[in-house]
Amino acid sequence: MVKQPIRLPPGEKFRLADFDADYTGGIKSKKKARRELDENIAVLADLGYRLYAEDRRSLLLVLQGMDTAGKDGTIRHVMRGFNPQSCRVTSFKQPGVEELAHDFLWRISRSVPRRGFVGIFNRSHYEDVLVVRVHKLVPKSEWERRYERINLFEKLLREGGTTIVKVFLHISKEEQRRRLQARLDNPNKRWKFSRADLKERAFWSDYQRAYEAALTRCNTEYAPWHVVPANRKWYRNLTISRILRRTLEKMSPQYPPAEEGLEELVVE
Ligand code: AMP
Ligand code: MG
Repeated sequence: MVKQPIRLPPGEKFRLADFDADYTGGIKSKKKARRELDENIAVLADLGYRLYAEDRRSLLLVLQGMDTAGKDGTIRHVMRGFNPQSCRVTSFKQPGVEELAHDFLWRISRSVPRRGFVGIFNRSHYEDVLVVRVHKLVPKSEWERRYERINLFEKLLREGGTTIVKVFLHISKEEQRRRLQARLDNPNKRWKFSRADLKERAFWSDYQRAYEAALTRCNTEYAPWHVVPANRKWYRNLTISRILRRTLEKMSPQYPPAEEGLEELVVE
């Protein structure tokens, strides 16, 4: 129950019961975590600026998790350093008529980040093997084929210059109960509550199984999954900021070369 590599080698089976949603990496002081988060956010701001200046590649963060897992909170707290000019969040809801008339990847590919951008998916193409599988919205023969198609799609993105970071926000069922109750109890949060959330909660174990399948079957070298312990919001934020920082540092975006001879120019 304490297994804490956030990543698993491709091919290995994810068992969510092995991951402790309460894990906080032995960090005792929230204050220290806060300091590191702020520092990471400052570094991310600089790296994001370079990525935009370089204008050649992009970064895509895919956020998945059960209701109340903290997808919105992650965006609010971790992504705040990025320039809104080169950052775009797409929240995927139930598909509309137009979207349903297309293949499931149609709306996704229209939303992938352009060169120089950081894209954030609040839910994603994974819903098409999660909610769709749990509620049998398409026949099994169809969703079964989607795992491989998702891998192919992500491979194409990667080859086109998009680095993909996939994060599963791992909360426990008990923590979801607390958070849903808190939404009900707080008048400023009630708008977020929907009776449908309770219906979905009843399918908790089906979702966990669907997640395990998606994480296992779509965990590739070019687009790996990260299981982030998310019962503690501060640890969740810190962990995701670390993953993003590591990823962008590895990408090492560079300012493009300036025109030649600019050093001698004087503006009069
Ligand atoms: P929220 O993230 O709380 O705004 O809720 C969005 C809802 O849209 C969730 O219940 C998702 O399961 C649902 N949703 C997102 N994508 C799909 C999809 N491809 N098919 C069916 N439902 C979806
Ligand atoms: Mg919701």
